[in-house]
Amino acid sequence: MKKLIYKVPALLSLAVVCCLAFVNPNLSPTVEAFTTKGWEFPGNMSFKTTSSYPYINSSWGSAVSVWNNEQDYWRLYRAPGSMNDLTDEYTTSSSRYGVMTTYYDSDNDVTRFKGRLNRSMYAIRSNSRVRQSSAVHEIGHAAGLSHTSNYAIMNTSRDRTELIEPTFDDRNGIDAIY
Ligand SMILES: [Zn+2]
Repeated sequence: MKKLIYKVPALLSLAVVCCLAFVNPNLSPTVEAFTTKGWEFPGNMSFKTTSSYPYINSSWGSAVSVWNNEQDYWRLYRAPGSMNDLTDEYTTSSSRYGVMTTYYDSDNDVTRFKGRLNRSMYAIRSNSRVRQSSAVHEIGHAAGLSHTSNYAIMNTSRDRTELIEPTFDDRNGIDAIY
């Protein structure tokens, strides 16, 4: 009889794993690690901040500093004439905190990027940590990182008030790309 009691939990655990496999299309041997977009900065990149809202520009500036301090492969430097724009949007139909549009060439080198923080989100307007977390996340996309389920700035389910800088997983992703 005791054998039966022990078998039930074992079967339940297996069922949970199977369900996760079906729910999460990303489940693979690398499920707990970074994923990449396939593009990369070819070197240092310029940027400008063009929001009418100083708190938005300030958060982009902080996010740039965080990434520049985080790694030595590339730097983002401010240039008024840059075609790479870090700004805001007001998109009420979306629950996104921010978005990054990245253009790249046939060598997978980034040629241009445009990031926006969504001011329609209350937390973006009211919380500087959420803003920085979102800005660091979006720059991560421009640099070639995709989403991960790990403890990382690239995790869309992270606590944006707590996680405002790249983590070990994000750094591993950058190391893998560059
Ligand atoms: Zn994202």
